[in-house]
Amino acid sequence: MRHTSTPLFAGIEAGGTKFVCAVGSGPDEIRAEARFPTTTPEETLARTLDFLAQAQAAHGPIAAIGVAAFGPLDPNPASPTFGHITTTPKPGWAHTDFVGALRRRFDVPIAFDTDVNGAALGEGRWGAARGLDTFLYLTVGTGIGGGGVVRGHRLHGLLHPEMGHIRLVRDPARDPFPGLCPYHGDCLEGLASGPAIEQRWGQPARTLPPDHPAWDLEADYLAQALHTFICTLSPQRIILGGGVMKQSHLFPRIRARVQASLNGYLQVPPLLERIEEYIVPPALGECAGVLGAIALAQETA
Ligand code: ADP
Ligand code: ZN
Repeated sequence: MRHTSTPLFAGIEAGGTKFVCAVGSGPDEIRAEARFPTTTPEETLARTLDFLAQAQAAHGPIAAIGVAAFGPLDPNPASPTFGHITTTPKPGWAHTDFVGALRRRFDVPIAFDTDVNGAALGEGRWGAARGLDTFLYLTVGTGIGGGGVVRGHRLHGLLHPEMGHIRLVRDPARDPFPGLCPYHGDCLEGLASGPAIEQRWGQPARTLPPDHPAWDLEADYLAQALHTFICTLSPQRIILGGGVMKQSHLFPRIRARVQASLNGYLQVPPLLERIEEYIVPPALGECAGVLGAIALAQETA
């Protein structure tokens, strides 16, 4: 058994389709990693606990655990339901006491936040938002979610932001698709998530060529959302991740539309001549989620 002097942290990226767990202290220092599909809470949490126990046996004590999870969830340590996934529509997962399950086996500090607040924190520490104190991370995938850091603190309040569910303007003549959000119909997620693109056009988003009209519409919706976030939260940078943003041709389209939409109202260089450094992909790529969870653990230790 090898024990080291650098403290080790565990990160759990709890996604709707897969879990990624890692033990380490940063991007260049990952000692163990595991990925498995998200099935029932019992089975998935049992695999998570097994991974943590094995990693601890192999690499030494874990100083803290960070969980970056799909939600909605309760991130407030003062609340009786802290650490629970709350009202999620994901079958079987509503009201799951995630942190409780970890705490029964591991007597260390445990941080619990949204996947996107975690990813924002990780990008702030090691990635595309280094050196900034106020920035957003938006994921456009199976769902749409936004998180961020404001003046150095993860964005919380009443609960946590739900940026995917803001209202947008939809022109029914151009886009008759009514949206698929079970709560709001044509909110941002209802119109612009991967499954929304697939339902609207009748084929998976990844199979639509770059010149398909789907992408101009997608860029319009995302630009509308970013206009709102820029005007409400005044972020110094916006990171766009998630499966749909693998369509990298979306970036220049979104940037141009954000500029057109703001119409010169905010006279700051990042929005005018440096917009390609303002709306950016994640620097940590596929690892943003699990590294974010490790960053959460470090913050709580
Ligand atoms: P999740 O949101 O489940 O955590 P992702 O961020 O990878 O995971 O999002 C998955 C969704 O992103 C898929 O349902 C699909 O709609 C969309 N997607 C995945 N890859 C691509 C791609 N290359 N181009 C466009 N859309 C994609
Ligand atoms: Zn909604």
